[in-house]
Parts: sequence; structure tokens; C-alpha cells
Amino acid sequence: MPTEPETDYDPELGRKFIFVTGGVMSGLGKGITAASTGRLLKNAGFDVTAVKIDPYLNVDAGTMNPFQHGEVYVLKDGGEVDLDLGNYERFLDIDMTFDHNVTTGKTYQHVIEKERAGDYLGRTVQIIPHITDDIKRRIREAAEGNDVCIIEVGGTVGDIEGMPYLEALRQFAHEEDEDDILFTHVTLVPYSKNGEQKTKPTQHSVKELRSIGLQPDILVGRCSDKLDIDTKEKIALFCDVPTEAVFSNPDVDDIYHVPLMVEEEGLDEYVMQELDIASEALPEDERENRWRDLVTQQTEGEVEVALVGKYDLEDAYMSVHEALKHAGLEKNVDVNVRWVNSEKMSDHHADRMREADAIVVPGGFGARGTEGKIDAIQYARENDVPFLGLCLGFQMAVVEYARNVLDLDDAHSAELDEDTPHPVIDILPEQYEIEDMGGTMRLGAHETDIDSNTLAATLYGGESCTERHRHRYEVNPEYIDDLEAAGLKFSGRAGNRMEILELAPEVHPYFIGTQFHPEFRSRPTRASPPFVGLLEAVLGDDPHTVTTEEVSH
Ligand code: GLN
Repeated sequence: MPTEPETDYDPELGRKFIFVTGGVMSGLGKGITAASTGRLLKNAGFDVTAVKIDPYLNVDAGTMNPFQHGEVYVLKDGGEVDLDLGNYERFLDIDMTFDHNVTTGKTYQHVIEKERAGDYLGRTVQIIPHITDDIKRRIREAAEGNDVCIIEVGGTVGDIEGMPYLEALRQFAHEEDEDDILFTHVTLVPYSKNGEQKTKPTQHSVKELRSIGLQPDILVGRCSDKLDIDTKEKIALFCDVPTEAVFSNPDVDDIYHVPLMVEEEGLDEYVMQELDIASEALPEDERENRWRDLVTQQTEGEVEVALVGKYDLEDAYMSVHEALKHAGLEKNVDVNVRWVNSEKMSDHHADRMREADAIVVPGGFGARGTEGKIDAIQYARENDVPFLGLCLGFQMAVVEYARNVLDLDDAHSAELDEDTPHPVIDILPEQYEIEDMGGTMRLGAHETDIDSNTLAATLYGGESCTERHRHRYEVNPEYIDDLEAAGLKFSGRAGNRMEILELAPEVHPYFIGTQFHPEFRSRPTRASPPFVGLLEAVLGDDPHTVTTEEVSH
């Protein structure tokens, strides 16, 4: 077979690469371990980025069901990606781009398009080298400009889907200096009935890895406790690594404590030593420690927030949970999120909502559960309960106001009721002709102009903000004047698109909705203003006057 290697990438791009694979089973939290290691490298002064490899055939996560995959995370460039990228953005405090999510769909699509364009004329197009070359190119390009790039391979070693990636990594290691590459394998170390930590699953999964030519440099054992020294020695012996290269990753209540635990185990120092960058790290006393200070501070009090949505799955609203947590870190309180099923507002779920201090209605698609969301918004509005509506939550706040204040009885969003006589939320004009579902919404970061002397201006500390979007529908311009005359103020706009709504402070202590998703830019060290305002309203600091620190939003 003619298989000339195709070299359309620049082998000099990027510097140090940490590959992270998983064994035994998925869902071990290898992304969090990897992101935590990255956080510590960042604290030590290195520029760190990450790539998430998702070996599925979808081109991106945009069309995937949140119930199966958790939320679709949106990047500033509009990339709709796996929620793990959200963790990397939050842990590393970076903005990634669509190129940082490598999927099988994307890779094959690119190679097949090149084949159709005649770029491989005369040659047989194959997984090796064409797909593997494309994978390597993507990793190197995403790493460009950084000191360290962490590459997490989704799934588990042995999955058929993952094979081309592992082969690409093998070649990658072959092409780079040994000092520049580190393979970390995360596995499960279960307990036997008689309380013994079992290493067999780890041994088997490393054996599998080695059979495809990959020898891990570091092993991380997920276990409910720390690994015993005997366990580490056994893993070291059977997997052919030094005992110092075996690390524990015990269960913790709060993922933001994982960096502290990784540090305690010395994983970061080991990584720096193996990558030969330890001498370039900042001395311990000069390292960034804001993260540690924030996540270990003694909180004072607790705020209960009702999240009114249709999915009983924390991952489906992951960034909203995280953004609430960040606001809690900023206001020094614990935030308890209670899920309220918007399809069951007629039973005890409505009571659960009423017991909460604040109400959040998050984004969503489709009619299911929307009447419950509208009821929740009406309850918040009429009972002075601090309220934040996000995307669909913003749209439903407009519908609620139109129905109950403007008396437009059957007002609705055209997405949810095509025949409504009052489509107060309607399809974006540019969407009329679009038929494809993938990547065709209004996506990514867009600037919003904010009116002065509004709640939004106080929250954002200025007259503009740039936040991420993911929607197909928006406020219908025909109803804006009537809604505003009745007291619903659109305080943020992008051209003639309505981006932020709010009620005046005389009318409600905190009622705000955003067409964008502020949760995607929230970071532990930089909480998102609308979320901080929500907690301030609960805590009795008037968010209409408290100016949150200027946080470059
Ligand atoms: N379904 C609504 C729209 O497409 C809201 C989207 C969302 O909440 N992300 O406009």
C-alpha cells in the first residue's frame, strides 16, 4: 500500500505535552486530575493549555442530549464542546477555542474533505498515517504559544474508538524528545470485601496500554482513600514505573480541593521534574495562591438556590452550578442548589422552590417543562424573590410578563408554540433559511451595550459586557415598547437584539434575565456579576448599589 507519511504540520510548535489516558472504567475524573495538575503548573508560573479528545463520531457536542452527556459548553469562538472543556477553562482560567476539542467527527470530516478536494490524489487514504497525522497536527497547533499542553483522551484504553488516538500519541512520543512528553494513566483502585486495595484492574489496563506501545510515566489511582504504600509499590513493580510515580487520587467532596490534594501528593513537582522544567518554576513562596485561599476560606452562612429545570442531573447544568459556587466564594457563603423539576410544579416541587432564598431558571430547548418555569418566574416576580433567568429563562421571563402584566393571554415563544397569537419571542431573522441543526445558532461571545444607571451597569461595573451566547430565538421587536412601558426594562442590547432585562429597584429587589449565558465565563477566581448580584440580594446587600470589583468582564 502506498502510505507516504503526510507532514502538513510543524513539528516545532508547542513545548511540553502531558497525555492523560484512563483505564478500567470511564467517569474516574481524569479531567479534574489533569486540570488540577495544570492549575499547579500555572501557579508555578507556566502558561498551560489543554486539549480534550472525544473519540465519538459527532463533529461537536452541539447536538448531543444533555441528559446523556451533560451540558453543552460554549466557548468564546462559539465552539459547542464537551463539558470537560469548561473544567479546563475554570481550573486554568483560560479561554479555549473550538480547536481545543478534537473529535473523531471533526478529524474524519477534515480528512474526507481533503480527499474529495483531491489533496491525496493517487494515494490510499488511511487511518495511519492520514487520520493520525491530522490528530497530531491538531494537538501541536492547540499547544502553540504555551509552555505545557495537557491532552486528555476521553473514554477508556481498549475502546475501539480510541485506538487511532493512542496510535497517534505513540507516534507523537516517537517524534518528540523524551523530556517533552509525559504519559499519565488514571485508573481505578477498588477495595476488596476484606478491605484490601486491589491493583489487578490497574495492572490489566497498563498491560493493554503497553500492548499498543505506550508505557505510562505516571499512574494515578482513583480510590475512596489514599493508596497505601504497599499498593503503590505493587503498582510500581507490575507496571514498571518508580514508586514515586504512583499517586493517589482519593474522593473529595469538592472538586476545587483536588489541586490541593495533588500538591500534597507531590504530583506537580514530579511532573515538573520529569519534564525538566522544575528549574524554571517560581520559588514556592512566589507562587500564586489565590485559589488555595479562596477554596479553603471559612464560609459564613449558607444560601439556598432553587434551580428550576427539566433535567435531574447536575451535569446538565454544570456551569450554572459552578457559577453559583464561584459567587459563593466571592461572597464567602456556601451555596446549596436544590433542583426543582419544572414539570412537577403542581406537587411538592413547588414547595421546594418556595423554601429557597433565590430562583434561577437556566437555559433549555423544547416545550417540556416550560409552563413550570413560567410559574416559577411569576412566583419570584410577585413575591420579591431574587431571580436570575438565563437564555430560555430570560425568554420565559418575557413571556411571563407579557401574559400576566400585559394581559396577552396566550403569549409565548414561537419555538414552543408555533401558533401563539403573540410570539413575544421569535426566531432570529437570520435563522429563517437554516435547516441544519449543528453549529447554526447564534453562538459565542458577542458584546452587549448596557444602559447607564441600571442594575446591569452596576453589576458589570460599566456600560458593556461580552458574554457567550447559544440561541436561535430572541425578543420580538414588535413587543419591546409595550413591555418597557409596562415596566420590563431592557437594559442591555446588541443592536436591536435584547440581551438583558430587569425590573426597577422600587418594584423588585433583584429580577434580572440575560439572553446570553454568563455562567460560561464564570471562574472560581472571577465570579460572574449576575450570579454575585443574586447572592447579594439574598444577603441583604443591595445589588443595585453595591459595585462589584471591576473584574474585566
Ligand atoms: N431555546 C432557546 C433558543 O434557542 C433558548 C436557548 C438556550 O436556553 N440556550 O433561543
